[in-house]
Amino acid sequence: MQKLHSYVMGNWYYGKNKPRVTSSALTNEGLYELDSSGIDNAAMLEYGRKKGSKALASMTFLERGNMLKEVAKYILAHKEELYALSAQTGATRVDSWVDIEGGAATFFNNSGLANRELPNETIWAEDDLIPLSKSGSFAARHILTSKPGVAIHINAYNFPCWGMLEKLAPTWLGGMAAIIKPGSESAFLTQAMVKMIVESGLVPEGAIQVVCGSVGNLLDCVDYQDVVTFTGSAKTGHMLRATDNLIKKSIPFTMEVDSINCAVLGDDVTIDSPEFKLFVKEVCREMTIKAGQKCTAIRRAMVPSHLLSEARDAIKIRLERIVVGDPSIKDVTMGPLISQSQLDDVKEKVALLSHDCEIVTGGDMLNFTPQGSENGAYFPPTLLVCNEPQASTTIHDVEAFGPVCTLMPYQDRDSLTELIALGKGSLVGSLVTASGSFASEMVSRIGHLHGRLHILNAESSKESTGHGSPLPMLIHGGPGRAGGGEEMGGLRGIKHYMQRTAIQGSPTMIASVGKEWVRGAQTTTDLVHPFKKYFENIAVGESLKTARRTITETDIVNFACLSGDHFYAHMDDIAAKESMFGQRVAHGYFIISAAAGLFVEAAPGPVLANYGMESLRFVEAVAIGDTIQVVLTCQKKTKKRQKLEEDTPQGVVAWDVEVTNQHGNPVALYTILTLVAREKGDF
Ligand code: NDP
Repeated sequence: MQKLHSYVMGNWYYGKNKPRVTSSALTNEGLYELDSSGIDNAAMLEYGRKKGSKALASMTFLERGNMLKEVAKYILAHKEELYALSAQTGATRVDSWVDIEGGAATFFNNSGLANRELPNETIWAEDDLIPLSKSGSFAARHILTSKPGVAIHINAYNFPCWGMLEKLAPTWLGGMAAIIKPGSESAFLTQAMVKMIVESGLVPEGAIQVVCGSVGNLLDCVDYQDVVTFTGSAKTGHMLRATDNLIKKSIPFTMEVDSINCAVLGDDVTIDSPEFKLFVKEVCREMTIKAGQKCTAIRRAMVPSHLLSEARDAIKIRLERIVVGDPSIKDVTMGPLISQSQLDDVKEKVALLSHDCEIVTGGDMLNFTPQGSENGAYFPPTLLVCNEPQASTTIHDVEAFGPVCTLMPYQDRDSLTELIALGKGSLVGSLVTASGSFASEMVSRIGHLHGRLHILNAESSKESTGHGSPLPMLIHGGPGRAGGGEEMGGLRGIKHYMQRTAIQGSPTMIASVGKEWVRGAQTTTDLVHPFKKYFENIAVGESLKTARRTITETDIVNFACLSGDHFYAHMDDIAAKESMFGQRVAHGYFIISAAAGLFVEAAPGPVLANYGMESLRFVEAVAIGDTIQVVLTCQKKTKKRQKLEEDTPQGVVAWDVEVTNQHGNPVALYTILTLVAREKGDF
């Protein structure tokens, strides 16, 4: 048997006490020994804070994002080693793909997010300037800074790779180090991935530690700048959340636990609709991927009462085609549960469920002959039917964490809503329907019960990522019995690992703090036109005041003919007089075109392209005879990653544009984005 070491304070560590032994899902033979006794938890936390978090927090968001991308590439380059280990958990190739490559995908996604949305800084100015005074000398803005603590991630056994990576990506992007406590049954796979990450040399020392075995008094040692997340059973989660030290120090505790997710067949669907087949397929798929050991799996399937027997028969037929066994054997499509104790747990839960239900298929272990060792933790796909779901509490309360689902009828939308609510809060629900009115009514009825709602029909089915796949750009979590937590969700997920602070002061101070110029802050000027400067030489707050231009009737007529926009407010003197403007006015698009004519430097230079405009507002109309002028100010700069040596190194410069009239009043306000060449490349 192999000893599974923990990675603590830069060393691989194994304890001296009696180990916990984990066994093969396929044969029940002992595989690994885990003993983490003797780890100095306080020292481990301090090491994470002082080494890992310090190093990560000193990197910019862009650097952290680049690190995620390189780590994901490294993992994928070595993925076959992980696939080999994953097979020991009983996973099929598809199950392992979801875990390993799905995990790497969360790193890629977060890296892209940092590259697109976050500054090349260590401070994140979250929102726009909030004016707090009449003359504009006092304002506010929310900023996010890294916490100097460490994130403790206590994970379930079912996704040893994805479960770690989906939390690690936002943790590292937020600038925090992590201590991972994997579920013991599959800790060998998490540990192998941690080893891979450490060996890659791509992450700072202390950014990751892993405890294989018990964490002992770790939660008693965490401090107020630390963060704890938990995925697993409600029982353990509730117990850990009540840790005295966590409560006393107000330590954030994000929990994601048992969830009795539902899938609903819409009341618009008939037996011949494509949605009927889609429903059957989705229920079966969610029951059998990872042998149903998924927090998002469908546990309750609800159908209009007149379709109950058809749905039951169709699901039964499909489930009975599943070949259960050792995934290394050809044609096997579903593997075992993680362990004998998990098997016992599922058997026990099915026995409980069957008090209120009829077992349609599966369940009966006597007539079940999986392909593989007789000691494997195999359980057949099991469908139960509950004819009176309102009268049962068990089917809405008991989570059999295996390939098990209960089918039930509903009479109308009111009774459906009641049934769904009996789940007391879920991670995800599916509505399989072709009716927009059914979907919209149900979303408003059951949205508050779910973290995610997946609407499936013929139109979305080809590309749908499915009921059970949490995605890095969407939130993952749910209210009530699902734990009340929220993970991932694009930029939202990173904020769980940072501190938000409202900064109040003068606009100039707020610009200095947020490393972004804001309207009302002081500016600087230079004799050199900013479009003649390389990215590095443009200063945030650098401003250009242009020449003036008086708008004539000829301008308006020319622009109308050029653009084909002959709207009456520009071209019809009588209608314009009767309009809200009281006279003919210039096209807004002409004003921004004329503004570009005023601020642009025409000769070739480091400005490569104008690639967009944001937050455009036409504040006041411009009439014939009005005179406009533009102030262009560098708002912020974002250095871009140079992918190839032959590419032009570049960055994005966001310019604030203020177009004013002869009275000094703004007529148009917006931001333009330019791609500007960098003098120095990354190679
Ligand atoms: P557990 O709740 O038993 O364990 C989850 C994690 O908590 C594991 O890493 C476990 O470590 C750890 N843990 C257990 N006790 C403590 C403690 N006292 N202090 C610190 N950490 C602790 O869940 P499992 O992963 O074993 O799964 C069991 C059940 O949980 C499943 O049958 C299922 O019902 C549910 N589950 C629900 C999920 C969801 O999100 N809805 C996801 C996964 C599981 P160790 O493994 O070493 O005990």
